[in-house]
Amino acid sequence: MVATPIGNARDITLRALDLLTAADIIACEDTRITRKLLTIHDIATPTLGYHDHNAASVRPRLMQRLKKGEIVALVSDAGTPLISDPGYRLVNAAREAGIGVTALPGPSAPLAALAVAGLPTDRFLFVGFLPAKSTARRRSLAELAGTPATLVLFEAPGRLAASLADMAAELGPREAAVARELTKKFEEVRRAPLPDLAAHYRDAGPPKGEVVVLVAPAGDAEATVDDEEIDRLLATALRRDSIRDAAAAVAAATGRPRRALYARALALAGRRGGR
Ligand code: SAM
Repeated sequence: MVATPIGNARDITLRALDLLTAADIIACEDTRITRKLLTIHDIATPTLGYHDHNAASVRPRLMQRLKKGEIVALVSDAGTPLISDPGYRLVNAAREAGIGVTALPGPSAPLAALAVAGLPTDRFLFVGFLPAKSTARRRSLAELAGTPATLVLFEAPGRLAASLADMAAELGPREAAVARELTKKFEEVRRAPLPDLAAHYRDAGPPKGEVVVLVAPAGDAEATVDDEEIDRLLATALRRDSIRDAAAAVAAATGRPRRALYARALALAGRRGGR
């Protein structure tokens, strides 16, 4: 299982190059994409397409080759195979047949995003892609709301704004990050509470390039410490909620005491002539 770059062509390990050269065949999602990588490194190993649409028919052929003692390298278009990419059934079949499976670790977008976002990394849940339709997406998010871990999600640029709005509605005003174009020239991490991120992408339109979304765990006080941020969260919540509900939502998202937030929300609402 060979990891390949997620953007920067130099992020390939020496061991990956050795194995791709030594393998009898390289199974890959898209032979044209993998051929480009192989050409850069002067590797002439034959490739074979292995993707969601042909996996059931190609897998037995790969298993036959493995049983003959051949080396099959599996790569995806980018990053680590099996991570929201094909491969797990092949690995399982190989294991059941007593064939050795080895990981050649390297780039993976979820880990790269965690490494640069500055959100808690001691516990995280890789969610992968959420459903494309809002109703199903909100149902999935509601199930995740109580998870005491940073959430790591993939999202298509065209769905990012709608998806962030659903996250804000289901998860509350938690601190979050959108990590874009990781390892590439225009790499960017945008950090803000979920409602602010949703508003940003609603106004700015779909971002260019690929993104990973990270959401801080519920009640993660450290990720939302400063008072200015608390005021912004309360002001956003006060636009839709009563003072009591706004204080409760921000308390749940930040771990700050509800009583202190209620007093602050009262002051902010008074200043604005709110409820
Ligand atoms: N197996 C891959 C890995 O380990 O990184 C992930 C494959 S998944 C089909 C593709 C998703 O990964 C994209 O939709 C995007 O969410 C994320 N992604 C891949 N490359 C990225 C990059 N350079 N920057 C940000 N996100 C990236």
